[in-house]
Amino acid sequence: MKGFAYLAGVTTLRLDRERCIGCGMCPQVCPHQVFVLKERKSNVVAPDACMECGACALNCPVEALSVDAGVGCASGILAEWLRERRGRRGGGAGCCG
Ligand code: SF4
Ligand code: SF4
Repeated sequence: MKGFAYLAGVTTLRLDRERCIGCGMCPQVCPHQVFVLKERKSNVVAPDACMECGACALNCPVEALSVDAGVGCASGILAEWLRERRGRRGGGAGCCG
């Protein structure tokens, strides 16, 4: 998903570089290439590509990352998808809407 971006400047993603031990986990788990590891420290190179899924913070061994997972675009997309599915099912007579 390189080049993908959500709204500019709204991500809740925070990186504490002092804490980072350069384990390389965040660049590995992030689905949107938000991080690049340089000189044994993580760098946020594409903050606007963050969909606030929380995978990086969950996998950081030293709690150098924080993000309000579940309040951003990913959550909104999932909620919309669920609403649509419910709408298709709700009250309809057919099984496959
Ligand atoms: S919250 Fe998800 S999308 Fe955002 S930087 Fe972390 S792993 Fe990448
Ligand atoms: S997961 Fe944490 S410790 Fe590892 S590179 Fe990323 S910020 Fe640094």
